[in-house]
Amino acid sequence: MKPAPFDHVRARSVEHAVEILAAEDGDAKILAGGQSLVPLLAMRMAQPTVLVDLGGCADLAYVRDGGDHVEIGAMTRTRDVEISPLVRSTVPLLPLALSYVGHVTIRNRGTFGGTVAHADPAAEVPAVLRALDATVVVTGPRGTRTVPAADFFLGFLLSAVEPDEVLTAVRVPTQAPGTVAAVEEFTRRHGDFAMASVLGAARIGADGTVADVRLVLGGVGPTPVRADDAERLLVGRAPSEELVRAAADAAVEATDPTGDVHAPADYRRTLARVLTRRCLSTVLADTTRSHAA
Ligand SMILES: Cc1cc2nc3c(=O)[nH]c(=O)nc-3n(C[C@H](O)[C@H](O)[C@H](O)COP(=O)(O)OP(=O)(O)OC[C@H]3O[C@@H](n4cnc5c(N)ncnc54)[C@H](O)[C@@H]3O)c2cc1C
Repeated sequence: MKPAPFDHVRARSVEHAVEILAAEDGDAKILAGGQSLVPLLAMRMAQPTVLVDLGGCADLAYVRDGGDHVEIGAMTRTRDVEISPLVRSTVPLLPLALSYVGHVTIRNRGTFGGTVAHADPAAEVPAVLRALDATVVVTGPRGTRTVPAADFFLGFLLSAVEPDEVLTAVRVPTQAPGTVAAVEEFTRRHGDFAMASVLGAARIGADGTVADVRLVLGGVGPTPVRADDAERLLVGRAPSEELVRAAADAAVEATDPTGDVHAPADYRRTLARVLTRRCLSTVLADTTRSHAA
């Protein structure tokens, strides 16, 4: 299929983009890397009258040290985030997760803001933002506001960005030294969206108990699922095979998968349990890994 007709406007700045969005009253859409939007246009699942192209807004492409966080501009290509020395040294979960996003060619075009605004529940970056309590910055006719990741992802392909707003940046808190990160996914082919994924990060304290743990599951609900109960179960306890199994069971309780052409809901639940055990075994202690399957 071919897209329905649309006008293409190259935005000169965020303010210019906001002006056009406001004038079109909900019928315009931002074009970033086009890796998700262009297929949706081709299938006529999106039919905007105007595409507001952010490709010329070079000032939205950056990775900055914010002290206790890294700030990433919306138009930064995901591959540039993945290979950024600053990101690699301060937020190790992020480049690890990005390496699972499609293929390098897609990461060369797709943008960091695009994958966040698109809000696919199986996407890796939204899961990282939920795990690390990141903040999303959006600008619109009513000014600039910041939205915590916990309030940002509202449903399947639905985020807190209003139709007249532009996502401009994301602030990702740095991870404490000694934190171990892991990503476990199940896909039919390399580069596909995961049928289920689990992203985790943990730090073991000097007393051998879990000092901090973050656990988020993707593809098993309408938004990335933060496994709060599982995290609470783990903190302050010494890692063991039994604890990993109990935490994986608690994590699965938080999921709400739906069946589709790729996998029935029960299969996704089973994947979530197995992948959570594997992920936790890696981030908590290598010694538990051999027991998790
Ligand atoms: C073959 C293939 C495999 C893929 N596999 C994966 C995968 O495994 N994991 C994964 O996470 N992703 C995957 N993707 C998607 C890829 O990561 C996209 O790049 C990403 O989802 C969208 O980023 P984009 O810059 O291309 O955004 P676009 O496609 O340009 O836009 C996507 C949506 O976000 C909106 N938007 C974009 N930027 C902004 C902004 N700054 N402000 C407000 N709204 C905005 C657009 O209006 C549109 O609705 C895959 C894509 C392809 C083609």
